[in-house]
Amino acid sequence: MNKKLNIFLAGPRGFCAGVDRAIEMVKEALKKYGKPVYVRHEIVHNKFVVENLKSEGAIFVEELDEIKDKSRPVIFSAHGVPKSVPAEASNLNLIYYDATCPLVSKIHKEVEHFDKRDLPVILIGHRNHPEVIGTMGQTNKKIYLVENVEDVKKLQINKDTKIAYVTQTTLSVDDTKDIIKEIKLNFSNVIEPKKNDICYATTNRQEAVKKIAAKCDYFLVIGASNSSNSLRLVEVARNYGSKKAILVEDVDALNYNIFDEITNIGITASASSPEILVKKLIDNLKKNFDIKVNEEKYQEENVYFKVPHKLIN
Ligand code: SF4
Repeated sequence: MNKKLNIFLAGPRGFCAGVDRAIEMVKEALKKYGKPVYVRHEIVHNKFVVENLKSEGAIFVEELDEIKDKSRPVIFSAHGVPKSVPAEASNLNLIYYDATCPLVSKIHKEVEHFDKRDLPVILIGHRNHPEVIGTMGQTNKKIYLVENVEDVKKLQINKDTKIAYVTQTTLSVDDTKDIIKEIKLNFSNVIEPKKNDICYATTNRQEAVKKIAAKCDYFLVIGASNSSNSLRLVEVARNYGSKKAILVEDVDALNYNIFDEITNIGITASASSPEILVKKLIDNLKKNFDIKVNEEKYQEENVYFKVPHKLIN
């Protein structure tokens, strides 16, 4: 008889509304214009998704000058782009569509708004992440990027200056709270975003992991190493009591023998990982173990973002 394994499945998990919309936009563009359609940067940070879209006719580039056939449309990724990118696309006479998640666009508008009021802006985020590059590129003025509490302490801004802050959407909810606390300790006049910039999907996926982590010997996060929200889920699983937590980039490459000595595993998928990979992982476990799946839902989600009209008409 196979060894018993308890699986704690986090809910919600996997695709968020922004990722769904971005992928849909590439598919609709392929329907409307035929092959190929260019996509600037990985539309979402997931190899499985990217490879599937490639097989349907998408060509991925990092910069617009890599586009060989300028008569073909290009889609900008869900992470958002600096203002210079649509400007360059117009200069090159490209047909372009922007799949920036509306919740990232909201932060772009906040930066613009603070910019108009001449307020210095602190951005809490990860250096070189495409979302951070996009947000910093919403203004020509300097934005102060901070990645942690220490960075806030080192800021060369007068303590009495009125300042504003915004955050990347996919950060750790807990770490960001500490950084915001430090900003408020260091500056007397802080303007906050109207609504938390860390998005609903990031928050819900982290809370769902927190709920089950302490019951788990091993936590498996299906995601990608360049995906901020995937890496945060691994950290949350570790911080909230799972004895071990790893990122699973390829469910077929996982060494399933590692579970021979354990009983309880947790599973989640990042906001850019499709449910089919969760199913594949559970099917692979089924081949080796006698499994019992317990799904624990932190919260139902019913967020949906529409694909732009001009793409479907
Ligand atoms: S993780 Fe949040 S901000 Fe990013 S695409 Fe999904 S909903 Fe939008």
